[in-house]
Amino acid sequence: MMENAKFLWYLFQSVIDVHISACLPSGLQRRLCKKRLIRSIRNAYENVPFYRQKYDDAGVDINSIRTDDDIKRLPFVTKDEIRENFPERIVARGINREDCHYSATTGSTGRSLPFIFTKKTFAFYIATGVRMYTMIGYRPWHRMAYIKYTDLHYPRLGPFFQTSHIKSTIPVEEQIAQLKEARPGLIIGYASLVYEVARRATPDDLKHIRPKFIGINSELSTQDQRNFISETFGCPVYDEYSTEETWMVASQCRHHNYHIFTDNVWVEFIDSKGQDVKPGEMGEMVLTTTRSPAMPFIRYRIGDMGRYSDAACPCGLGFPLLESFEGRADDCFILPSGKFVSSLKLLNTFTMYIKKYLHLLEEFKVTQVSSELIVIRIVKGNRYDESQLEELLADLRLLLDNSVSIKVEFVNAIEKSNGIKRKAIESLVGKGQP
Ligand SMILES: [Zn+2]
Repeated sequence: MMENAKFLWYLFQSVIDVHISACLPSGLQRRLCKKRLIRSIRNAYENVPFYRQKYDDAGVDINSIRTDDDIKRLPFVTKDEIRENFPERIVARGINREDCHYSATTGSTGRSLPFIFTKKTFAFYIATGVRMYTMIGYRPWHRMAYIKYTDLHYPRLGPFFQTSHIKSTIPVEEQIAQLKEARPGLIIGYASLVYEVARRATPDDLKHIRPKFIGINSELSTQDQRNFISETFGCPVYDEYSTEETWMVASQCRHHNYHIFTDNVWVEFIDSKGQDVKPGEMGEMVLTTTRSPAMPFIRYRIGDMGRYSDAACPCGLGFPLLESFEGRADDCFILPSGKFVSSLKLLNTFTMYIKKYLHLLEEFKVTQVSSELIVIRIVKGNRYDESQLEELLADLRLLLDNSVSIKVEFVNAIEKSNGIKRKAIESLVGKGQP
């Protein structure tokens, strides 16, 4: 009981804290976040054996790390390093592990990454979740239903914070039945699950399920999917970007702009050489947690790509804007300049021409062999035309800043690889430490 009361106290403090933080003018907020960033790094060095050794080995004088520019001298941290050092060398000294939340993520690689955080950190994470929903109009008296594989055990206070957990692993019909029962004002869930519910719900179901807003999370979703969900339920749909190990990174406001929660996590956007990219340019996102002293992630390469913007949002929130996500870093091509080009853009260029000239190509595969060379293997279509292919190649060259040679090989078939899914666009260029 004492423990519970303590947690509620943390939660209360955190909810106040995050809402004050959201109201601060951007300049002040930025200064506070930078302070917290440096404090988190100092704590990591003082208390986490892994970071102490890493920075000592790199010859970094921790006392010289005073600003967000200085942190560029700190080496990056990878998932493999965290996994290898868990828990003995990556959990801070003096932390009672028995008293922490244990969790793990598998991500797209299928390899698990374990991590822990304290109850105080957990309270803060929940509070950022609450703020994410208050940003879009949620109030404590709205009923909330969330579709997730585990129950988060949200604390309830009388008529406030009434939540229903709907298991993500049960059949969609059952989920719909539970939603009809719960009659939530706010529905939260993975994009694909909410999409599935939207597709399967009948007009009669929809008379009973009438949320005011929907929050989707944890997966990349397309605007088309979000539009479909929004039209089906007749309410706005908001997206968020969070990771299991760092929690909330960014969330959409009422204007559907993603704001980066810099009071939880500091985000850098870098090119393949480790240099900061400019606003609007695609970069690999590097995250530093500032609220998890038990197991801090410092300059952590999560492997996601994105663009930031320095524009201001009409909603007035001081948090900076994340313009877009661009998928996984593994899927990108790297140009000699260090710039990234997403494989989706290359794929779209092909799709565009295959639609324009229906019988130009039968099949293709694009491989980046080195930062200067791309090989395209093509199975010709029955109305193959050299000038049409030339048109496509011209577009590709433009996309690649004319900085990479393109070699075309005509083949009779594209060999099947052993992988689970064969990629039409593949890069063999190393994605090691920049
Ligand atoms: Zn906004």
